[in-house]
Amino acid sequence: MSKNYVIGFPRIGEQRELKKALESYWAQNSSFEDVQTTASELKLRHWNYQKDAGIDFISSNDFSLYDNMLDMAVTLGAIPQRFRSLKNEELYFSMARGNKNAVAMEMTKWFNANYHYIVPELSLEDEYKLNASKILEEYKEALSYGIKTKINIIGPITFIGLSKRVDGGDTFELYSKILPLYEALLGEISTLDSEIIVQIDEPIFVKALDIKVLSLIKPTYDKLASISQKLKIAVVTYFENSCEATNILVHTPIDFIGLDFLYGVENIKSLNTIAKSNKKLIAGVIDGRNIWKNDINKSLKLLENISQIVKKENIFIASSCSLLHTPFTLKYEEKMDEEIKNWLSYAVEKLDEVSLVSKIFFDGEKAISGEEKLVYENNTKANISRKTSALIHDKNVQHRVENITKLERNGAYEERIKIQKELLKYKELATTTIGSFPQTQELRSTRRAFKNSQITEDEYTAQMKTYIDECIAFQEECGLEVLVHGEPERNDMVEYFGEQLSGYGFSQNGWVQSYGSRCVKPPFIYGDISRPYPMTVDWITYAQSKTDKIMKGMLTGPVTILNWSFVRDDMARGDVSKQIALAISDEVNDLQKAGIKIIQVDEAAFKEGYPLRESKIPAYEEWAVRDFKLSVSSAKKETQIHTHMCYSEFNDIIKTIEAMDADVISIETARSGNELLKIFAKVGYKQEVGPGVYDIHSPRIPSVNEIVSQIKSLLEVLPKEQLWINPDCGLKTRKWEEVKQSLINMVEAVEIVRRDLN
Ligand code: GLN
Ligand code: ZN
Repeated sequence: MSKNYVIGFPRIGEQRELKKALESYWAQNSSFEDVQTTASELKLRHWNYQKDAGIDFISSNDFSLYDNMLDMAVTLGAIPQRFRSLKNEELYFSMARGNKNAVAMEMTKWFNANYHYIVPELSLEDEYKLNASKILEEYKEALSYGIKTKINIIGPITFIGLSKRVDGGDTFELYSKILPLYEALLGEISTLDSEIIVQIDEPIFVKALDIKVLSLIKPTYDKLASISQKLKIAVVTYFENSCEATNILVHTPIDFIGLDFLYGVENIKSLNTIAKSNKKLIAGVIDGRNIWKNDINKSLKLLENISQIVKKENIFIASSCSLLHTPFTLKYEEKMDEEIKNWLSYAVEKLDEVSLVSKIFFDGEKAISGEEKLVYENNTKANISRKTSALIHDKNVQHRVENITKLERNGAYEERIKIQKELLKYKELATTTIGSFPQTQELRSTRRAFKNSQITEDEYTAQMKTYIDECIAFQEECGLEVLVHGEPERNDMVEYFGEQLSGYGFSQNGWVQSYGSRCVKPPFIYGDISRPYPMTVDWITYAQSKTDKIMKGMLTGPVTILNWSFVRDDMARGDVSKQIALAISDEVNDLQKAGIKIIQVDEAAFKEGYPLRESKIPAYEEWAVRDFKLSVSSAKKETQIHTHMCYSEFNDIIKTIEAMDADVISIETARSGNELLKIFAKVGYKQEVGPGVYDIHSPRIPSVNEIVSQIKSLLEVLPKEQLWINPDCGLKTRKWEEVKQSLINMVEAVEIVRRDLN
């Protein structure tokens, strides 16, 4: 008897059917019934995929038209005031996306995944009211096809912990209001069937929780697990270890504990207490958030270790988290190198892995069919081939990494900046932008046409150059001081570099839901990284040749490239990032040799890589800072290095930013006045800073006066010698007419401030 379990399944559809249905409905090209029809078809297809793969525990309510946290908020009746007059789908999508009269609810990153959830808004004044219909209906829907599901819900502690208070104060003050709704929900679920499993996701347990939150675990689960004899409660966590919570959960009457043994290896330490409690263990051993084929032998070994402590009959073989975080199926990857494709596995393929590992583990190798034996053999071979393949292992790269002597650039900041200021002669409050300029439809189709060989390289280059010419002409005309080429040749700041680096792979259909209907297709790092040719030098030198002003070279940093890719799992992340850093440092050197005097190395996703456990942060920061510095180590003292981060919150990481030692950092601040800048002053940050002076997220054009007062408020915090003036990042998402007028106003505002200062 095999017993296997899948935490959750992607819902967007193998051809992104849900995305297309939603976007067509939002554009008013189809009805909500059409969306529902697509949704029903997808649910059925996805349940069948799991059933056909022999999965024993299949979920319902893992489906969502937008997001599971939003679903939970609606289930609990946590509807913000501004949406209360609305109903049904209009209510639901307005909460997610806003409408004419009300801004959307906030969205934020789901732990350290690239998925984003809607942040529920709670208030002491609110009256909450249960509406369990989605959950009950979806269960019945599956049952009507003969599939008895477990029901997935977000747990109360995670729900409350991730919500925000609109009336100020701690969300946990609402605990006594919210928990009874969960009790009522479980009560309703218990009427569905004579025995039913409820999977309660509590990923917040993987964070080091404070005492107050920890102390809620026991009463919560004592209560929820005693609602009905018919319910079997499974509390699952993922992405990290949850040892503290496990130690408490074993003393509650829940039935299953689900743990991630891949991203939370320390969960092994909880096995003794789980064994003693005789609870069932959902053992996450198949990677649910990466794209590599599982190493069956490795999983079996891990399971053997687990079963030394927990009785085999109490173990269930599972994905490490919901498969939501992987692409759907390899079926549509037609262009991929066969050898590389054979190393990969997406959600549908992972189902077979969960199933096969569990068969072999429980019933022995002899019990598997001839066909499965072949799969097993192929799996072993594929994993051996990855260990030795020339596509992955590049002696030159390895040799170079082992023999790095120069980890950082020459000269202390004070010495460098003095030389730079003399040489570059930029004024106080120098104006620049973050790199991109509007990406027009025309630009996109030109890039596509070139990719599909519909136009020649010469035609393509000519069109890009025309864009660059116009972009420079505008910047000169409006009086910006440090110019950029506008990034017309880039569709994405990571993909563009990935495409030119060896060791990088691309999928055709490797879409992963990022939020709502939006998907991303991260490139993947499968092998040692090197840079066969310069990547940006031609474009930037062309741009520089067109102006007497300083042209800023534009690169993406190693940590960001890493954090926005699927990363090989046979090497530590820090070792991969070091290889990327070396490739970038070659590019920096080539740019500088070609006469480029300022180079920006974007680290937009630097903060996204932070570990969930505080205790692991110093290790991350150590290699992340090391590799940023390594990536610019080739810069001469006179070459000014800029970096850019999209965040607004620097309080926790200011010391780390300082340690990166970029000459100039631009940051996103416009929406928060000068608040965010204060930390730079407080710690005595020496390097130069370019805080965004207007918000580019809205089509609104900021007036000169507005920008003047924004700059003046920045000057209250940092001296003029230390400040650069630029907009927030993301000009590429705006229209030319918005960008032009806004930048003209920005430059004028700077002139006014300069005059006032003299
Ligand atoms: N240089 C990039 C741009 O301006 C930076 C993008 C980002 O910050 N995410 O588009
Ligand atoms: Zn940014």
